[in-house]
Amino acid sequence: MESVRKTFGDSVVLRDVDLEVAPHTVTTLIGASGSGKSTLLRCANLLEEVDDGAIWLDGEEITDPVTDQDAVRRRIGVVFQAYNLFPHMTVLENITLAPRRVHGVGRAEAEAHARELLERLGLGARAGEYPDRLSGGQQQRAAIVRALAVRPRLLLLDEITAALDPELVGEVLDVVRDVKADGMTMVLATHEMGFAREVSDQVCFLEDGVILERGTPEQVFGDPRQERTRRFLGRIV
Ligand code: ADP
Ligand code: MG
Repeated sequence: MESVRKTFGDSVVLRDVDLEVAPHTVTTLIGASGSGKSTLLRCANLLEEVDDGAIWLDGEEITDPVTDQDAVRRRIGVVFQAYNLFPHMTVLENITLAPRRVHGVGRAEAEAHARELLERLGLGARAGEYPDRLSGGQQQRAAIVRALAVRPRLLLLDEITAALDPELVGEVLDVVRDVKADGMTMVLATHEMGFAREVSDQVCFLEDGVILERGTPEQVFGDPRQERTRRFLGRIV
């Protein structure tokens, strides 16, 4: 992202945001509620139109008006806080829907890939269940599998554990660790600071739509340069 600016009416939500995400790395966005984390992720996926600046994916400027936005979105997986799965479809149907309908993958191939992903992420036995038969943690893990099923270049995760009971958070974070180990490029917004510290290659602290501080987790968590970062971390750790 280069000098990205996003406004809603009179309020400026992202101000000149520059962000570079290297392939196969994990970037974590931290910051108070309302600091702009979700908006940044939504701009990255073209769910929101930026007012100014540019966004690039694999060397292509995706904010260029001539860009095929649907094609860009097909290359980016997204998981939100909650309610990710279609309730009237089984887990397997949820996961194979986009590969089959949007990417034109045949049923057998889509199902084989889905079962392989489910197996690897510990949900092999759940393929035929409807979402309401799964725990919240299993539902979020299935939502991650669904996002991965289209073989995205980039995965965006927006507070995917925020709606879960505390005892279910760990299993979802385990899946993110596994996905990272497979080399997926990810940008995630989270309030799980211990997890952010462990899993991130780059941590960005947002305040009022500005990336106020960024660095390795060791630097941002261990020795924050900005007083406001220090205050934020002091409040929530
Ligand atoms: P975070 O994810 O860090 O909590 P958000 O990106 O959701 O922050 O919100 C940043 C700011 O933008 C907040 O002040 C929020 O009220 C505002 N905002 C977000 N989405 C909209 C919208 N669709 N319309 C108007 N204001 C919005
Ligand atoms: Mg948010």
